[in-house]
Amino acid sequence: MALSTPKSWCKGMSTGSLKSILKTGQNNNFLIQMMKALMFSKLLILQLKWNSYGAEGAYFFLITVIETVLSAPVALQNDIYEWVRDHRVHHKFSETDADPHNATRGFFFSHIGWLLVRKHPDVIEKGQKLDLSDIKADKVVMFQRRYYKPSVVLLCFTLPTLVPWYFWDESIIISFFIPAILRYAVALNAAWLVNSAAHMFGNRPYDQHINPRENPLVSLGALGEGFHNYHHTFPYDYSTSEFGWRFNLTTAFIDLMCFLGLASDRKKVSKEVILARKMRTGDGSHKSG
Ligand SMILES: [Zn+2]
Ligand SMILES: [Zn+2]
Repeated sequence: MALSTPKSWCKGMSTGSLKSILKTGQNNNFLIQMMKALMFSKLLILQLKWNSYGAEGAYFFLITVIETVLSAPVALQNDIYEWVRDHRVHHKFSETDADPHNATRGFFFSHIGWLLVRKHPDVIEKGQKLDLSDIKADKVVMFQRRYYKPSVVLLCFTLPTLVPWYFWDESIIISFFIPAILRYAVALNAAWLVNSAAHMFGNRPYDQHINPRENPLVSLGALGEGFHNYHHTFPYDYSTSEFGWRFNLTTAFIDLMCFLGLASDRKKVSKEVILARKMRTGDGSHKSG
């Protein structure tokens, strides 16, 4: 991608000279040393692998996967604590005023509008009554919450901008607006579709009396989060679907973590229970995904 790079973008320092400092280590400036250390320790392997294919597209895809699956700061979708709190309120008081993104208020509100206005008082009141002691006791969650803002600046915007610029000489403008800003906007909208489209469009094979739907397009965009009728019917199922890895990279990721011994106790609904529920409350479509 060719777009002219400003000769000087960083207080009179040309991109060329900054890059040469980063590459050769001629400068002991602490900030530059920190940037070098971060880039080399965290991204060298990733970049060598992907750059060998000459793949800006692959980089874009990979970083999208990483931001959606692996790293909340990259996604900038609030820290884990806040995300879990809102998610629990959403399930417990789904499609009432206490639901943070109440889909009965329309597509726009459930998609993005809820983030643009003050929370409904019921969301705050009911949210405060939830038991969040388990996530408060989780050291990783609280560590991430403590350092959330600086980690967002670093992982969501700074690194995605620096990597293409440094490793395959992309212009700094393209590097900022495509891998950082566009990627962030696309991923946000894909995630928001779970709250909007997956509560409005699709069939309801498990429970036709609730609004959440099975929406395969949302599953594709949100890496498996579109099996929403299933997810709201059986919220304790770790896979959010009865179909395992089908359109469901998130399930594959959790399974990988279990395989590596980093996660355990996956809860799954039995086929018999699913079938009985389909027969009892489903819309008869018996389809999903
Ligand atoms: Zn959910
Ligand atoms: Zn939902």
